[in-house]
Amino acid sequence: MKPFSDPNQTSLVDRSLDAVWHPCTQMKHHESLPLIAITKGKGAWLFDDKGTALLDCISSWWTNLFGHSNPRINQAIISQLEKIEHVMLAGFTHPPVVELSEKLSALTQGHLGHVFYASDGASAVEIALKMSHHYWKLNNKPQKKKFVCLENGYHGETLGALAVTDVAIFRDAYGSLLQDVFTVSSPDIRKAQEGESADDVARRAAKKLEDLLKSEHQNIAAIIVEPLVQCAGQMAMYSPEYLRLVRSLCDRFNIHLIADEIAVGCGRSGKFFACEHAGIWPDFLTLSKGISGGYLPLSLSMTTDTIYQTFYADQTQQGFLHSHSYTGNPLACAAALACLNIFETESVLEKNLERSKDLTKAFAWAKEDTRIQHWRQQGMILAFDIKPKSLKSPNSFSREMFSASLKEGVLIRPIGNTIYVMPPYILSAEDAMQMGTSVQRALDQVLV
Ligand SMILES: *Cc1c(COP(=O)(O)O)cnc(C)c1O
Repeated sequence: MKPFSDPNQTSLVDRSLDAVWHPCTQMKHHESLPLIAITKGKGAWLFDDKGTALLDCISSWWTNLFGHSNPRINQAIISQLEKIEHVMLAGFTHPPVVELSEKLSALTQGHLGHVFYASDGASAVEIALKMSHHYWKLNNKPQKKKFVCLENGYHGETLGALAVTDVAIFRDAYGSLLQDVFTVSSPDIRKAQEGESADDVARRAAKKLEDLLKSEHQNIAAIIVEPLVQCAGQMAMYSPEYLRLVRSLCDRFNIHLIADEIAVGCGRSGKFFACEHAGIWPDFLTLSKGISGGYLPLSLSMTTDTIYQTFYADQTQQGFLHSHSYTGNPLACAAALACLNIFETESVLEKNLERSKDLTKAFAWAKEDTRIQHWRQQGMILAFDIKPKSLKSPNSFSREMFSASLKEGVLIRPIGNTIYVMPPYILSAEDAMQMGTSVQRALDQVLV
C-alpha cells in the first residue's frame, strides 16, 4: 500500500508526484527535473503556483491556438453549458455538432463532407484505419488490410495508432502487441544529399513507395502520413510535392490516403489544412489538438461521399459501428465553433503570415550559429537541430535545455537534439523576440 501525503505539509508538486502518474515521463527523472504546477494562464503566458510567468512556446502540447483563457472561447463554452453539456450522438444530435460538421465540410469545399467524431487524436486515427479496411471489405476486397506508414511518423499511442507510428521511444516496449505494417522512407528534407532539392528527396521517397505498391497493393488498405511536418518525429519537414506524388500513387494503385492533420491542421502550417499546400485532398483527414483551441478533448475523421455511401445500407453490420462516450461533445464542439469563428472574423491565416515572419526574425541568430544545423520553418512551426558535437550529454540534452529555458522564462520542450517552437497564434512581435533571445541564452548554458 502507498502512504498518503498530508496536503497541509506537502507541496502541490510533491503531492502530484505521489498521486499522479504523469504521461510520457520516467517518473524518477523528477528527482532532478522540475515538475511545474500551473495554476493560471492568460494569452501566451502560463503562471505557476508561485506566480512565476512562463511564455508558452509550444501551445500547451500543440493544442492551444488563441491563447489561454481566451474570452471568446470561454464565453462560447459557458453559453453552451447553460443549454446542455452532453448528448449521446447515437440516435441524437445537437446544434454545435451539426454546425461544426457543416463548417469543416465547407472548408474542404465538400470534398470531405462527412465527419465522424471521437475525443482524442489516436482514436481519430483508429477510426480512419478501421473505416478504410471496412470500406475495402464492403467492396469485396477483404485482403486489403495492411497499412503503410512513414519512417519517423507519429499517429498516437493506442495499439492501432501505435502500429503505424515509427518513433522508437513510444513503440519499442509494445512492438510484440502491434500489427505488421509497411514502413516506407520519409521525405524529410534533412536527408537531401549534395545538390538535392526538397523535391528531389520527395521524388526519391515516393519512388520507394511506388516499388512497394507495385508488389503489395492488393493487400494494402491505406497509407497514413502527417502532411508536410512529422511533428513528434523531430519536426521533420518535407516538400508538398511528396503529397502530390502519394495522391497519384494512391489513385493508381487503389489505396486510401489518410492525412493525419492532428498537429499540422487548423492553420499551423500556414493554410487551414496542410494538404492545401499541395492542392490535394485525402480520402480521410483527421483533426484534434487545435480544433477545440486547446480547451476540450475533441477529435474527428473526415471522409468522402464515396466512402460514406458504401456504408449506407439496410444491414446494421454494413454500418460503421464505432463509438466513444464523449463523441462530438457539445461543449467541445462549441469551443471548436468559437475557434472557427475567430478564424473567420479575425483573418487569422493572413495575420499568421506576419507572425511567422516575426518567428523567422526572432530566430535569425540560429541560422548563423555554428552549433546549429537544419534550420527550418513551416508556417507557425520553427525548428533546428543541435550538431551532435556541440552536445555535452546527448541523452539528457532535452531535459537540461527544458530546465535552462524555464529559468529564462520560456517553456520549450526539445525532442532529442531538435529545438522547436510552435506558439499560439496570438503571439506579439515582442513575445516572439523574447522567445528567440531566451532560447539563445538557455542554449549557451547547456552546450559545449
Ligand atoms: C498528437 C498526435 C496524435 C495523437 O493525438 P492524441 O490526442 O495525443 O491521442 C496523432 N497524430 C499526430 C500527428 C499527432 O501529433
